[in-house]
Amino acid sequence: MEINKINQSINDSLTGHGAIMGSKTKKVLDYSCANKLCRICEGARSKGKDPIYHDCRQNHKGSSKSMEPEVGVRLFNDAPNYGVKYSVFIGDDGSSTIAKIHEVSYNVEKWSHSSHATRTLVSHLHKIKSEKNNLPGESVLSQKVIDYFQKCFSYCLTQNKGDPEKMRKHFFHKDLPNGKDLKGEHLKKNLTSLFTIYSSDIVIKKLVENASSQSNESLHSTVGSKVPKIRFYGGSETADQRIAAAVAQTNLGKQYLVDTLHCADIEPGQITEQE
Ligand SMILES: [Zn+2]
Repeated sequence: MEINKINQSINDSLTGHGAIMGSKTKKVLDYSCANKLCRICEGARSKGKDPIYHDCRQNHKGSSKSMEPEVGVRLFNDAPNYGVKYSVFIGDDGSSTIAKIHEVSYNVEKWSHSSHATRTLVSHLHKIKSEKNNLPGESVLSQKVIDYFQKCFSYCLTQNKGDPEKMRKHFFHKDLPNGKDLKGEHLKKNLTSLFTIYSSDIVIKKLVENASSQSNESLHSTVGSKVPKIRFYGGSETADQRIAAAVAQTNLGKQYLVDTLHCADIEPGQITEQE
């Protein structure tokens, strides 16, 4: 099973969706919607009646905040039903989903996004700075130098996404602030060992995957075009269907519409085919 990540967004407090995207294929492997409201159920309840038979999509009872992690865990837990398991979750360490990943019924490795990778590097640099056991004449890691490393590192992640070799070569600049080289064997040793870890095969591979995470923006914008935030579709099956259409378009392009019509034995019109 290839490495996967989850892409989620909660459009408003009443509906949300989540999708698992392959980090290499950029295709949506699975998706799920969360709906807190059903207009038919709500209408019947307000009249004290039983709702008529309908395609009810209400499936979320908890808080809106719990939608994202619940959808995420559900998608991961459903995967074995299709004979697969997702080996890796790529997300932001601060996300509510990553905190819930331990609830998945099998072992999932957690990888963080590049922003988190940068934060981790900076905290390592601060740790080196705070050790304060520099020998006389050694440079101190100033905030300016740390900021510089941070800038180079995030630049390196963005510029070389998807290319581990380039990332490794790009990794370390020598144009330090004020044009001054850092001095001191002890500092050199600390920095070398830190950057050796960051340029190891395993870490570089993770960084490459992480830097590519922007690819899920494509699904986000397609969902945004089908389920515009200024309208509310969450009271019926419409929101789910619109998200399904966005997933199909992400995976197949606009051709999905013509293919769907053919499957339903409907001849697409000229304008649909031109789109
Ligand atoms: Zn209902």
